[in-house]
Amino acid sequence: MTCEGDLVRVSMCHCLACQKRTGSAFSIQARWPSDRVKIEGLAHEFVRVGDEGSTMTSRFCPTCGSTVYYDNDHMPGFVAVPVGAFADPTFPPPRVSVYGVRRHPWTIMPDLAVEELD
Ligand SMILES: [Zn+2]
Repeated sequence: MTCEGDLVRVSMCHCLACQKRTGSAFSIQARWPSDRVKIEGLAHEFVRVGDEGSTMTSRFCPTCGSTVYYDNDHMPGFVAVPVGAFADPTFPPPRVSVYGVRRHPWTIMPDLAVEELD
């Protein structure tokens, strides 16, 4: 997969759907316009209903099981890529945190903009 040009944003999400998707306490992902993401190779698909009722379709590697990208019907025209998929510690940090209501209380938050969602 290749992502071209500037990303739209990098966000941290604490929603339960992302917790289940990642197997972790929160997710961090970068968003690009769909037409700037070139996808090659096989991916398996899993559809999950998000906390707010939208549909998230995750595509993951059939060999290692890692989520490679996903989209959500509440953000048509965009693709989200888990930041860990880039395996690049210099990747830009998240600037936005969402679903703080689902945040594990032991997590220490960096100074981010917070978008309140139900
Ligand atoms: Zn989420």
